[in-house]
Amino acid sequence: MLRNAKLAALSVLKSTGAFEAVANSNWRRNRLLILCYHGTSLEDEHHWRPALYLAPHVLEQRLEAIRAMRCSILPLGEALERLEARDLPPRSVAVTFDDGTYDFYSQAYPLLRKYDVPVTVYQTTYYTDHPMPVFNLICSYMLWKRRADKLDPIPELDLNQSVDLNTHLGRHQVVRSLVERSERENLSGQEKNEIAQRLAQSLGFDYAALTAKRILHLMNAQEVAQIAKEGVDVQLHTHRHRTPVEESLFLREIVDNRQRIESLTGKSAAHFCYPSGVYRQEFVAWLQKEGVESATTCDVGFARAGDNPFFLPRFVDTTGRTQLEFESWISGLGALIAFRRAATQRYTLPED
Ligand SMILES: [Zn+2]
Repeated sequence: MLRNAKLAALSVLKSTGAFEAVANSNWRRNRLLILCYHGTSLEDEHHWRPALYLAPHVLEQRLEAIRAMRCSILPLGEALERLEARDLPPRSVAVTFDDGTYDFYSQAYPLLRKYDVPVTVYQTTYYTDHPMPVFNLICSYMLWKRRADKLDPIPELDLNQSVDLNTHLGRHQVVRSLVERSERENLSGQEKNEIAQRLAQSLGFDYAALTAKRILHLMNAQEVAQIAKEGVDVQLHTHRHRTPVEESLFLREIVDNRQRIESLTGKSAAHFCYPSGVYRQEFVAWLQKEGVESATTCDVGFARAGDNPFFLPRFVDTTGRTQLEFESWISGLGALIAFRRAATQRYTLPED
């Protein structure tokens, strides 16, 4: 109810011109809104994971709103430099996409080009070289697609009881069990893909046909190289979408990720985004050691001059946000009304 009351208040504020007033204020002028997106649906992914996926038409509505609000859309690097120099243009926005999914390439990228929006992609690179769906996500997605059914036992996958797929908990337990098993047995990407294939068979999917759509895949090497050549800023997000708490392993993630990105783009990568929005104080020194200049989180808010550049907040846009709420944030008013939520991004790609 509180949320409904806030949305009603926003509606009134918009009609009285408060969005415009805040958008044109000095308060807003000194702040940068870094927008964060993940996936853009090829089919129905936004119904499966509304916190991760937007329907393409919703993304287009957001881009329309940015245009209508006359926001200054800056490339991330320039935005951060001008933020620090206290030289931001009016209503500054920077657009970032996490992970570098295939659906970014096929769905979001054409829209961003249509609206002439500069964009940063935080590219995780393991699956860039492995043309298969992200393991935990494809398992979760297939189970959700069969949510009206029961899953029969699959003893060779250690799934020994039939599971009602109608509940989130039931589906989650199956994914958890498969992910834990693959970690315990230290399975390769190919071996995990074989598990997903076995699950698909039990659920009655044509796995080859499903994966041929490249649903829940990342961009391949050629696609990353192409978008970079066309001006997309490709930046760091770890090689295997993880942030080990041991320094040498953490650094390896950055080094492997950077090498792969720079070999594909021919450009240096010095901006980082914490996978799943998980960060720790000690990561800062490790990132600095690798010459990284900034890092973004999934915490909600505006970036201000003088903020720690290694903990830059963003506005994580999801299917759960209404258009009015989105407009309130790009104007600046959203931060004042504060629809604050803890960072709840749980987008964990499996380890290889
Ligand atoms: Zn991510």
